[in-house]
Amino acid sequence: MTFQKKIYEGKAKTIFSGPKENTLIQYFKDDATAFNAKKFQVLKGKGEINNLISEYLMGVLSNNEIPNHFIKKISNREQLIHQCKIIPLEVVVRNIAAGSLCKRLGIKEGLIFKDPIIEFYYKNDQLNDPIVNKNHIISFGWSNKEELLEINKISLKVNKILKKKFEYISISLIDFKLEFGRKTFDNSLVVADEISPDSCRLCDMNSKEKFDKDIFRYDKGNLVEAYKKLSIRLGIIK
Ligand code: 5GP
Repeated sequence: MTFQKKIYEGKAKTIFSGPKENTLIQYFKDDATAFNAKKFQVLKGKGEINNLISEYLMGVLSNNEIPNHFIKKISNREQLIHQCKIIPLEVVVRNIAAGSLCKRLGIKEGLIFKDPIIEFYYKNDQLNDPIVNKNHIISFGWSNKEELLEINKISLKVNKILKKKFEYISISLIDFKLEFGRKTFDNSLVVADEISPDSCRLCDMNSKEKFDKDIFRYDKGNLVEAYKKLSIRLGIIK
């Protein structure tokens, strides 16, 4: 591990200072949390596999000209990233009804939406990441109208790209969460954080086998093994 100054410790990752100005190091931990950290477990190997999957999926975004914070993987658990000012939002894109949407609105799990649904949540653990709308976001100065339009556009584009990528290996992208930041170097908007099965719902189109954190949330099996299986199907590992 690189020994740099710790800047921030999150639930699944720690952020350290980077080797150059405007860079940071993102370290993937083995910690698994759910229900706002009420459930916690250390799952050996999770950090390494998520580092690999996120490197791969951020690479897919870069290949499709989607701006993101990823620069390169520098060790089994570390990535060099662009330093960003994180926008305090979790942007959730849903293709199929699941999770909190079903609980909140009584919608039947598995309903396929004609068009993807985008939701915004305020990133705040103490408040349990409450759902917010565009008026809240603009009024509270978390973002502005133009930037939100850009966030919407990028989120839909990411959905299209990832959905296709997973469909190719017969996996449904049910929903996922994105975070955005503004690079300290030039203030440009980028996809930040990670894209991994910790922040997506993924299931086999035929067998309905799951490859995401719901396995841990609802004790449905071995999470690290499922993430490894997903990596093999994506061609990331053999
Ligand atoms: P839901 O709102 O149904 O709980 O989650 C929707 C999607 O966003 C799921 O794929 C879920 O994994 C992801 N998501 C929502 N909140 C968080 C969060 O705080 N952390 C992570 N890693 N993913 C989240």
